[in-house]
Amino acid sequence: MASMAVFDRPFDNAIDRYLRSLDLSTVPVDIDAIAGALGVTSIEPRRLKVEGYLGRSPNQDLIIRFKTGARPERQRFTVAHEVAHIIIARAQGREIQRSVRRDLERNNAEERMANRIAGKLLVPERTLVSQLRGSAPGWRTVDELSRLYRVSRTTMLCRLREVTSVLAVEFVIDLSHERSHKVASFRIAYSEKRSLRFLRPPKDEISALLNSRGVGAVHSIDVDFDGRAEQVRCEGRMSRNVNGDLAYHVIGWHLPSSGTIDMK
Ligand SMILES: [Zn+2]
Repeated sequence: MASMAVFDRPFDNAIDRYLRSLDLSTVPVDIDAIAGALGVTSIEPRRLKVEGYLGRSPNQDLIIRFKTGARPERQRFTVAHEVAHIIIARAQGREIQRSVRRDLERNNAEERMANRIAGKLLVPERTLVSQLRGSAPGWRTVDELSRLYRVSRTTMLCRLREVTSVLAVEFVIDLSHERSHKVASFRIAYSEKRSLRFLRPPKDEISALLNSRGVGAVHSIDVDFDGRAEQVRCEGRMSRNVNGDLAYHVIGWHLPSSGTIDMK
């Protein structure tokens, strides 16, 4: 690594200032235009082993390459990820010197930061929150927004947990059999940088979710988010993970009417 940056809060703020200087008001965001505004002269598919590539052409122009045949939302994410490397470099006061390959740096701090910035570029908080205000929390909205922003459902779920003015909660309950309520394991994810407490034990909450599960089943979960009692409307559906295992996947969120939430 040329520079192993520590990404702290001031750096996060520098990135956010940079992002605010970009025009992210149209949906879907024109990521190619943003890349162009940052000096990228060519974005093209190539037969790559990795998802993407940021480098310089022989005449020193910035170029982005993405994997031929990748799904459109994957390509968009890859371009946004490479754009994020440019933004990180500029926020650090350096220029991209050499090629940046995703496989060589997977899992390092810059890779994670680039993925995070890619999400912010493709699903900006401002437009997302205004759309969420007019929609019911649940899968239909997640799927509609994923299509609208041309991102994967995974990216959309990730953004719902990241944006500061949304209180999101997600359950993935792995089941041993289709008809049984036997829980193999479960994961609960919620808005980052927040504290969440269920008003009843999570195991009881999960039993209640499974008892009323079904396609489009709506659940209401009482939680304490940062010391405030909130009721979160959630929706569940059956899904299969990458290993083909069955899970009941519940997603929901709440937008406090006060608009913004104080973040320390
Ligand atoms: Zn990368």
